[in-house]
Amino acid sequence: AHSMKDKTIALFGLGGSGIATAQAIAAGGAKIVAWDDNPESVRKAQGAGIETGDLRNVDWKQFSSFVLSPGVPLTHPRPHWSVDLAKAAGVEIIGDVELFVRERNRAGKKSPFIAITGTNGKSTTTALIAHIIKASGRDVQLGGNIGTAVMTLEPPADNRFYVVECSSYQIDLAPSLNPTAGILLNLTPDHLDRHGTMQHYAEIKERLVAGSETAIVGVDDSYCAAIAQRLERTGKHVIRISKRMPIENGYFAKGSDLVRARNGDASVVATLAGIGSLRGEHNAQNALAALAACLSVGLSIEEINAGLRTFPGLAHRMEQVAKLGNTLFVNDSKATNADAAAPALSSFPRIYWIAGGLPKEGGIASLAGFFPRIAKAYLIGEAAPQFAATLGDAAPFEISGTIAAAVEHAARDAASDSSGEPVVLLSPACASFDQFQNFEKRGEAFRSAVLALAGASPVGG
Ligand code: ADP
Repeated sequence: AHSMKDKTIALFGLGGSGIATAQAIAAGGAKIVAWDDNPESVRKAQGAGIETGDLRNVDWKQFSSFVLSPGVPLTHPRPHWSVDLAKAAGVEIIGDVELFVRERNRAGKKSPFIAITGTNGKSTTTALIAHIIKASGRDVQLGGNIGTAVMTLEPPADNRFYVVECSSYQIDLAPSLNPTAGILLNLTPDHLDRHGTMQHYAEIKERLVAGSETAIVGVDDSYCAAIAQRLERTGKHVIRISKRMPIENGYFAKGSDLVRARNGDASVVATLAGIGSLRGEHNAQNALAALAACLSVGLSIEEINAGLRTFPGLAHRMEQVAKLGNTLFVNDSKATNADAAAPALSSFPRIYWIAGGLPKEGGIASLAGFFPRIAKAYLIGEAAPQFAATLGDAAPFEISGTIAAAVEHAARDAASDSSGEPVVLLSPACASFDQFQNFEKRGEAFRSAVLALAGASPVGG
């Protein structure tokens, strides 16, 4: 982290990625003073050779920057005492993505950098782009909100590609964010608990594309359509993508074909037909974004098609877990709100639906259009009574309580379904925290309950 050399940096948040970030900063020749509210984390950091200090009792004038580590947002909604102290001392407050951006700028921006944000589809799109670039034989570094802390990635080099998923929080703390290609997939009301208003949330997301050399924007929702227009008026190079309507200039989906349009001239450049990991209209949006981004950093259409065809998909996102007789079991645990559950519900005609958890605002009312596909719903967690009330007479349901009971009952009911290919779908439209540590643990509980059923055979690899 040479852009920080000889500076003194304060860092708050010593969870796993915080420690890695602190080490990377120190390795670049900066003096670091790190802290956390959790004494256990502080001890761990000390064990890892990081200099710690109680940031409540230090002279803040010594610091040139205050870094909030990537894990902090989860447990420390702002304003947080450390933020107040930094502000009072006039110290800039930044995140790890900002540090990464400064490193890359210092290295002459020679490494192409693709940044991805949006309400839904970020991880899928990020993983897909990295997969396509890797499959083409290039060096790719994948990180950010998807998992690997950006400061732990390999340093900028010629022909090294960065693909970074950015949360709103990371964008908010990265004022210099300047990707080669920036992607804003979509914007729907979620995470408003943390960001206050939709307007504020949209403004933060817009900054990622506003700072990009090429701005790739999904124009299927009104917020993003307005953003695309506004950016274009400022002279920004905007590439529009649409999963459902033909557009004059940009990329759109027509069935499973991906079409490139230039001044109204349209030609099919890729297809998703037969690619199980990219089924559904929502994945067309993700694939269009990947197509536009990969082209803009110099990949060929052929390379992109080859990568699309071999994309394995991500766990917990409409992941086909097992088959038992005619029944397919699908793990969509990542669908933590109604909007995220809609794609899965729209992808299957006859569904034994496991839903519930910690409810989000609005519940499942917006999914009413899919209720006719629900053979039966199996409701779990705190949301169960509320979801039962919303379903009413529109679909049969039971209150199963737990994932294990829901899987067992749904499997039994689906087995006597003679309609063709019934699907037992975990797509909870809720957060998991009432019963699980996170959505991954919820998905794993589903998977093990399914694989424990007599005769279940795992799908794919
Ligand atoms: P994120 O990283 O933004 O949370 P993911 O790629 O992990 O998104 O996908 C989470 C869930 O959201 C998926 O299971 C899928 O049901 C849904 N989803 C994926 N892509 C999109 C999209 N482009 N638009 C709407 N929903 C999507």
